[in-house]
Amino acid sequence: MGVYPSGPGRKGIMADPNCIFCKIAGGDIPADKLFDDGTVFAIRDINPKAPTHVLVIPHEHVEALSEADSDLVAAAARCLEAAPGIARGLAVTDSGYRLVANQGPDSGQEVPHFHLHILAGRHLGPMG
Ligand code: AMP
Ligand code: ZN
Repeated sequence: MGVYPSGPGRKGIMADPNCIFCKIAGGDIPADKLFDDGTVFAIRDINPKAPTHVLVIPHEHVEALSEADSDLVAAAARCLEAAPGIARGLAVTDSGYRLVANQGPDSGQEVPHFHLHILAGRHLGPMG
């Protein structure tokens, strides 16, 4: 990992050049961003598990929840702060949604760059 100043306005943001979300954040992989405030952005999941499945992703590459340093806590807080407004834009505030953060192998985590899933658009059933 290191400073990977790819894309406009990314000076000084910590990134991993091998990370798919860093590549999307930096504009190296095109994505249809539903939201971007320069700190966190939202995209539709490429493999949706619900009618509405959106990812809220910090621009900064922060990794595992098990290493909850101040960078991760700040990034996670910004994702949580942004989620209700993104959900409103998706028109799922009243019907409801689930926020999920996967961590580690048993969760099925695929991308080791912290993110929240917003799942909505049908009754999601019990967790587990
Ligand atoms: P997780 O399993 O919590 O790490 O979630 C990673 C999510 O990223 C999965 O639901 C993938 O379907 C999704 N994903 C992977 N690559 C892309 C991409 N290029 N664009 C949108 N979503 C992606
Ligand atoms: Zn990353």
